[in-house]
Order: sequence, then C-alpha cells, then structure tokens
Amino acid sequence: MSAGEPFVVTVCVTCDRAAYPPRAVCAGCGASEWRHTPVAGGVLEHATILRRVAGVAGTSTVALGVVRLESGSRVIARVKGRPALGSAVALSLNEGAVLASPGKSKIKKWWKGA
Ligand SMILES: [Zn+2]
Repeated sequence: MSAGEPFVVTVCVTCDRAAYPPRAVCAGCGASEWRHTPVAGGVLEHATILRRVAGVAGTSTVALGVVRLESGSRVIARVKGRPALGSAVALSLNEGAVLASPGKSKIKKWWKGA
C-alpha cells in the first residue's frame, strides 16, 4: 500500500475554525471563504472493528476509529495496525478514505485527555 495523499481540512479564513468534511458556511462566524490545510495527525480517541462490511463477501474486517485533530475537530478513519487509545496517529488519504496509522505523527503534546 502506498503512503497515500496528505489529509487536508478546510479552515475558515475569517476565524480559523477547522471543518471536516468541508462546509459551505462556517459554523463559527458564517463566513464562506476557506483555505486548505494539511493535517499530519491526531489522537485516536475511540476504535471499533466491523466484522461484516456491507457489500463485501467473506470475513473481511475493518477497524474504524475516531481521531481528534489539534483543532478539536474529529474525523472517522480506517485504522491501520493496533495503535493504543490516546496515542498519536498519522493521517493520510488512501483511495478517498482517511487512514490512521500508528506513529510518526508530528503533533505537539496538546492532548490532555477526555
Ligand atoms: Zn469562521
């Protein structure tokens, strides 16, 4: 599997509020101008395993997780490997899906728990 493309969020030009997925209007200030900002990673808050995937035959499983970004936004991602809850994960886009991989995230030590 390739490393994928950078994961990018939209950030309001007026108030710096991040939004993912992209929105037409900022929930913070009502502005509609956005810039695109790559996000290296976040913190894995929750994870689960889907044992049956709709439209996929057989016993394929998929791990999904909720990743909290430094901006406070949360993203649902496929989880690669077995990162511990509360650990840093790197984010990328692979064939349109957000992928969370353990390690190599350059995020700061901003996480203070729930
Ligand atoms: Zn705004």
